[in-house]
Amino acid sequence: MPLLPVQGHEEVRTTLIRAVRAGTLPQSILLHGPTGIGKQRVGLWLAQLLVCQSASEAGPCGECQPCRLAARLEHPDIHWFFPLPRPEGASADKLRDKLEQARGAELAARRADPLQVPVFERPPAHFLAAVQTLQQLASVRPAVGQRKIFVIGDAEAMVPQESSPEAANAFLKLLEEPPPATTLILTAAQPGALLPTIRSRVLPVRLRPLPRGQVAEFLTENAQLPSADADRVAALANGAIGRALRLLPSSAGTGPVEAQRQQGRALLLAALSDSATPRLGAAHALPPSGARGDFLGVLASLASWLRDLLAMVTGAPERIVNVDAKELFLQTVRTRQPHPLGITHAIERVVRAQGHAFGNVNPQLILADVLRGVQADLRAGS
Ligand SMILES: [Zn+2]
Repeated sequence: MPLLPVQGHEEVRTTLIRAVRAGTLPQSILLHGPTGIGKQRVGLWLAQLLVCQSASEAGPCGECQPCRLAARLEHPDIHWFFPLPRPEGASADKLRDKLEQARGAELAARRADPLQVPVFERPPAHFLAAVQTLQQLASVRPAVGQRKIFVIGDAEAMVPQESSPEAANAFLKLLEEPPPATTLILTAAQPGALLPTIRSRVLPVRLRPLPRGQVAEFLTENAQLPSADADRVAALANGAIGRALRLLPSSAGTGPVEAQRQQGRALLLAALSDSATPRLGAAHALPPSGARGDFLGVLASLASWLRDLLAMVTGAPERIVNVDAKELFLQTVRTRQPHPLGITHAIERVVRAQGHAFGNVNPQLILADVLRGVQADLRAGS
């Protein structure tokens, strides 16, 4: 199946079309903006624009052979790299092949079901071995067209501890002297996490969250949601179609973001309880180690529930993200009258814990500590 259509980002796309037509598009670009708003999708759209044989002011034609290959993720000159988990039991010399196999399998899965969102059990990264493959692909002539295009999703995943600094350094070499007829399109939700030497060599292009209506429209048209459901999910999606898709149930059960949202709600309720039992229960419900990405997601979710509570307390209910819980927030404000400062402290406490979660720590201990603190913060004003 072809990729799902690009939704929104009209202004950025118009700017990119003009640059391509004027021949002024730089060789290296960084698309940045919040997680899930469609940066990689826009990157693939730009790649299609670059290979299209009859592009117009409206963008790629969508009809020519290169366009159709690009839309099916089958164009031999368009290479899409994204972070992958380290393949199990791969020795150093086999790592490159195994990673290429894993990338091929992931691309096949995305072709088979463009709505599916990848869920990895181990933290994905860009490994040096993958960057070496990229370097090699960049060093040869285009296979069918005039230009090779590389879309490198979540480029900040070149530096985390699971990866190696060599990956970022090897990639830097490519940016310093890009081979001719090569365009590099990086995406990052946290451009600040990229090496400054990488950042200084790319043209940053900022993408913004989509209006809620555009997310809802995408869901009715592409995920076949009834419009009431699409509106509800879009309201929870913060302008990010990627987040909306992770809120939807999948064949594996509840969507991963929806699961974290429910965990965050349970944590807030535990922290609002006067008894220690729900807090300890909530902490022990977490897996004791590993799955650090999940733990960070749970903390982020708790922070978002606390921000919603703050929005309700400060008379800004229109800023609430978890819109299906307005009644819970109202009731909490009525019965407990938490002080805005206390809620602010609680949010800061959770954000600090997110910073600590990167170390070699026990999530259960951190969470029990956080919940104890949050309960005290929320009680402070009453
Ligand atoms: Zn075309």
